[in-house]
Amino acid sequence: MNNIMLTGKTAIVTGGGRGIGRLICVKLAERGANIVINYAGNDKEAELTRDLCQLAGANAVLAKGDVSKMKACEKIFEVCEKSFGPPDILINNAGITKDNLILRMTPEDFDAVIAVNLKGAFNCIKLAFRPMGKKRSGRIVNISSIVGIGGNVGQANYAASKAGLIGLTKSAAKEFAKRGITVNAVAPGYIETDMTAGLSDELKNEMLKAIPLARPGKGEDVASLVAFLCSEEASYITGQVICVDGGMSV
Ligand code: NAD
Repeated sequence: MNNIMLTGKTAIVTGGGRGIGRLICVKLAERGANIVINYAGNDKEAELTRDLCQLAGANAVLAKGDVSKMKACEKIFEVCEKSFGPPDILINNAGITKDNLILRMTPEDFDAVIAVNLKGAFNCIKLAFRPMGKKRSGRIVNISSIVGIGGNVGQANYAASKAGLIGLTKSAAKEFAKRGITVNAVAPGYIETDMTAGLSDELKNEMLKAIPLARPGKGEDVASLVAFLCSEEASYITGQVICVDGGMSV
C-alpha cells in the first residue's frame, strides 16, 4: 500500500475546530484516517470540520473539551476509544495567545497560555502513551511556533509555551522511542488564520518583509508536513523540530 496513506489509523487532533487544526483534520481524513476532532468553543465551526472530513470520505466525531484540564482530556480519549478504538496519531494543535509586554502581562495571562499550549499537550501525550505503547507504534506531532525558537516582543507567555513544547517533544521522543512511537514538533511561521487575522497591518507587513518566500503561509502548508510526519515514510524521524515558515527563521 501507498506509504503516505493512513487508512485504518485513528487520529486525535486537538483544537481541530478551525484554522490550522481544521486543515490538519481534513488532510488526515483525505489520507484515510478516522478523525477525533477536539475543540473548546464554537460548535458550529467544529461541525463544519467534521462535515469536511466526512466529505473527504473519512469517519469523524467531535470531542469538545478544554485540553488544559486532565479530566477533559480523559473524555476526549474515551470518545476516541468508543468510536474507533485506541488512537494511532495525536496532534497537539490547540493553542491560544494573550499577548502583552512582560511589564504589562498579568500572571494570570502567563498561566493561561502555558496551561493550554503546554500542559494541554502534556496531558494528551500522557494519555496517548499506553494505547500507542501497547500497539508498539504511534505518531505524535506537537504544533509549536518559530516564536518558541526565536522569541518575540509581546509574546513572552506564548514563546515560553512553544519553547516548552520543543523540550517536551524531545523528552517524549527519547522516552517513547523503544515503543515505536515517534514524537516531532512543527514550528509554523506566519500562517493566515483567525489567530493572525487580528494583527495590525503594520506588523503583518513587517513579517512579510522577513519572509524569503514573500508570502504568508497557508494552513495547508502546515497540514501537509503533519500528514507526512504521521505516515510510514517518516518512521525514522523523531525528536525533530521542523519549521514551516517560508524561510522566515533562516
Ligand atoms: P486558531 O485560533 O484559529 O485555532 C486554535 C484552535 O484551538 C481553535 O479551534 C480553538 O477552539 C482551540 N482551542 C483553544 N483553546 C483550547 C483549549 N483549551 N482546549 C481545546 N482546544 C482549544 O489558531 P491557529 O492559527 O489555527 O493555530 C493553531 C496552532 O498553530 C496553535 O497552537 C498556534 O499556536 C499554532 N501556530 C499558529 C501560527 C499562525 O500564524 N497562525 C503560527 C505558529 C503556530
